[in-house]
Amino acid sequence: MKITDISFRKAEFQFDKPFEIAFAVLYGFETMILRMDTDEGIVGYGEAGPLEYVTGDNLDTCMVIAGEFRKKLIGMDPLAIETIHEVMDGMFHGHTSVKAAIDIACHDIAAKKMNVPLYKYLGGSDPLLESDVTIGINTPDLMAEDCLSWKEKGFRILKIKLGHDIASDLERMKAIRSAVGEDIILRVDANQGWSVKDTLQIEPELRKLGIELIEQPVKALDYDGLKEIKQASLLPIAADESCHLPEDAAKLGAMRACDGLNIKLMKCGGIAPASRINAIGEANHLFCMIGCMGESVIANTAAMHLAAARRNISKIDLDITFFSHCDWITGGFTSQGGSITLSDAPGIGIEVQGF
Ligand SMILES: [Mg+2]
Repeated sequence: MKITDISFRKAEFQFDKPFEIAFAVLYGFETMILRMDTDEGIVGYGEAGPLEYVTGDNLDTCMVIAGEFRKKLIGMDPLAIETIHEVMDGMFHGHTSVKAAIDIACHDIAAKKMNVPLYKYLGGSDPLLESDVTIGINTPDLMAEDCLSWKEKGFRILKIKLGHDIASDLERMKAIRSAVGEDIILRVDANQGWSVKDTLQIEPELRKLGIELIEQPVKALDYDGLKEIKQASLLPIAADESCHLPEDAAKLGAMRACDGLNIKLMKCGGIAPASRINAIGEANHLFCMIGCMGESVIANTAAMHLAAARRNISKIDLDITFFSHCDWITGGFTSQGGSITLSDAPGIGIEVQGF
């Protein structure tokens, strides 16, 4: 099989209702969607959802780099995914979001060629997943109200954004726990907002509230700090911004600096490198979580297929499509509350109208 064309464009998505986080109200997001055509008539879709301060790339750089990749990849076999990564990595360091867009499209094509859904192509058998939903930072009362409304929609796992001063963060968690009761799983993500001391001070309090895990308490590059926390903490510690690439996972594993890794296709460059992170995590006895950026159902569903296919990816944080519905990109999965059933259509199972 040969790639005959790669086309890509920016796409805008609106949140169903304005999404409030501390100091900002977000109305939507933009991504780059990508279509890969082949000489066998099989079409693959991919998507880049960059976030400058995490992935180091943005939509404009994605459009430029995708154009460079297009020139090199036309004529190559889309099933030769390892070779395609070798070519892309040889051309540009970084630019992981656009590499993810190409990688997702290749995987979509490969699974369509086999006439199986992507999770089966990747070796999985079970199309069911359960995702959490993320609660943005706000006052304790408003966050508790928000949590309750998601519980009422059938969600059983909530991921709470924290990372302000620990006294107010603890107030938030107390308000949330008392609002949702004991039967809801609560995980917290400090997004690098705490120090080692902060984390070790709040950890026993969070434990009393029955919190499941703490994600990325300290700065991304503070591996020693993360290790200090992991060794002193009874709650599991997950690395997100500290873990972009397989090499980061290897370092975190060797240092015994955390208990789990949060994989994102946009941070690592797609399903192939994400699978390597998971394998490294598994060999180092680290659980893996899988998360998302601002992305539509294309990249989000690709991540779900990977999660469904890998036994070590045990925590699912793929919630972006619960906030943003889109009528021209359809399929992929159905959901009820946080329970997701992947479609059995070949590939990622996505239909894109007009592209
Ligand atoms: Mg995170």
